Amino acid sequence: MNIHEYQAKEIFRSHGIPVPPGRIARTPEEAEALAREYGGTVVVKAQVHAGGRGKAGGVKLAESPSEARAAAERILGMQIKGLTVGQVLVTPSADIASEAYVGIAMDRGSQSSVVMVSAEGGIDIEEVAATNPAAIHKLSLYADPQLARQAAKIILQLYEAYLAVGATLAEINPLITSGEEEVLAIDAKMNIDDNALFNLPEVEAMRDAEAEDPAERKAREAGLSYIKLDGDVGCCVNGAGLAMATMDLVKHYGGSPANFLDIGGSSSPDKVVAALEIITADPNVRSILFNIFGGITRCDDVANGIVEATRRIDIDIPIAIRLTGTNEDEAVEILREHGFAAMTDMEDVVQRAVELASEPAA
Ligand code: GDP
Ligand code: MN
Repeated sequence: MNIHEYQAKEIFRSHGIPVPPGRIARTPEEAEALAREYGGTVVVKAQVHAGGRGKAGGVKLAESPSEARAAAERILGMQIKGLTVGQVLVTPSADIASEAYVGIAMDRGSQSSVVMVSAEGGIDIEEVAATNPAAIHKLSLYADPQLARQAAKIILQLYEAYLAVGATLAEINPLITSGEEEVLAIDAKMNIDDNALFNLPEVEAMRDAEAEDPAERKAREAGLSYIKLDGDVGCCVNGAGLAMATMDLVKHYGGSPANFLDIGGSSSPDKVVAALEIITADPNVRSILFNIFGGITRCDDVANGIVEATRRIDIDIPIAIRLTGTNEDEAVEILREHGFAAMTDMEDVVQRAVELASEPAA
């Protein structure tokens, strides 16, 4: 689960990390009133589940309440990486002497959490990692021992916050030193492990469903595991392992999967309808591939879902279906009655779906 900067800052604050004050505005008038309350220069910041807001024009300095209002007018409703800005954070502007990066992330490779620091903070850390990897793992900035002590304490507090909320990522970029010899976190990013949420109702309460990616939100609400990718073969599979194997096979036959989608073990027709709605909403999808191994999942449920989905939504994308296992014969019959053919061999159906994706659109 993603949370907003202002929410991550609340978590940081509760772990003692120095963060500037700030409040949320949903209208330009609210932003203006907050700027008046804080006095002096404020920063108006888009609250969306995406980084790079500064570059996208979603972070603006405002020297007066009327400037704050104008900044909020421009930022509210703006699209950043496909997400619409519904609220802004208004925060007194910090005086920046230097910008560093501090992050803690779950690293699958080393099966542990890793701390990353860089004196080249403030810009895309991915870009620094790609173009100047040697700049990461250095904190040469803190020559002043007093500042170094403050920074070290913040890294420990960040790790405590990361553990406390079941985070997979906790980032401060930039961590600044201000003119007043103070270290301050002026940006905050956290990703929370969905599997940790069952035990953390106060963190779950931070979910902003309206700010979520629409496809991911729909998938979560329907109980599907869905990850969007950038290929053109829409995949609908039951079981995470089979879904991975299916994506590998799509690649093997020269195609490119549009998504990972696991409809889960016991799949009702409704889940299949939701899956098809999500897949067909992706404009890149050129063919749809069903790969179902019926165990607990009943093939006839999946077949009914496919039929029901074509009744509810207009699908003009070709579909290749393979199903085998529980209630396979019933499924084949249901599909046949509605003009669909079903295959039984996984390699055949994957090749067919890849072929269909590369054919010119009808
Ligand atoms: P991001 O672009 O989404 O990572 O948003 P940030 O919160 O990191 O803001 C982007 C950039 O705006 C920062 O790297 C700073 O250079 C600048 N910025 C953000 N807050 C302040 C502030 O309080 N004062 C000043 N002077 N600049 C700021
Ligand atoms: Mn940032």
